[in-house]
Amino acid sequence: MDTRIGFGWDSHAFKPGIPLRIGGITLDHPAGLAGHSDGDVLLHAVTDALLGAVAAGDIGSFFPPGDPRWKDADSAIFLKLALEELSHAGYRVVNVDTTLVLAAPKIAPVAGEMRAHLAELLGVEIDQVSVKAKTPEGLNLDHVAQCHAVALVQRAPEAEELMSMSAVIESQKQLEDVVDDLLASVHGVPKKRVAAPVYDTEDIT
Ligand SMILES: [Zn+2]
Repeated sequence: MDTRIGFGWDSHAFKPGIPLRIGGITLDHPAGLAGHSDGDVLLHAVTDALLGAVAAGDIGSFFPPGDPRWKDADSAIFLKLALEELSHAGYRVVNVDTTLVLAAPKIAPVAGEMRAHLAELLGVEIDQVSVKAKTPEGLNLDHVAQCHAVALVQRAPEAEELMSMSAVIESQKQLEDVVDDLLASVHGVPKKRVAAPVYDTEDIT
């Protein structure tokens, strides 16, 4: 089994009076996370974990923070792009694990909803997605939300199938070439030649 692992980390400062978006859902809280996009620290960390798993760069290389197109953008867009990169590389998600580090609000009551939403975005089952949270004890970082994420990915079965089929075709062709060479050398039978198609050039318009 061809598996790879990716790691992502992100942090955003709390800012009063803006919506708090974490894991693609809006939480009831007096402060949100400041950022060029919607500041979804969890989706950003997962996006980087997926991109990292296939060594496809990071969120900043695809979505530069200064680009006005990503102002207040729904971070699900970034995640979807990372999934496309993953699929393009021939991989799919096995599981994703995340740890949020923030003083408030409490994540446990909404972790199930976040997992369900994240699973839907990733196109996987809920048991393939984990959302955990800790408070930043002793870090003096109560004004910040951080998120760590790891993603395990494996080569998609379709990619394996395509690879093995082409391998079979290649080996059959090689086998035929070997047989032809043997026949020619042992029995003096000339190698089969595929006749070139005959065209009436006058008919080609
Ligand atoms: Zn971010």
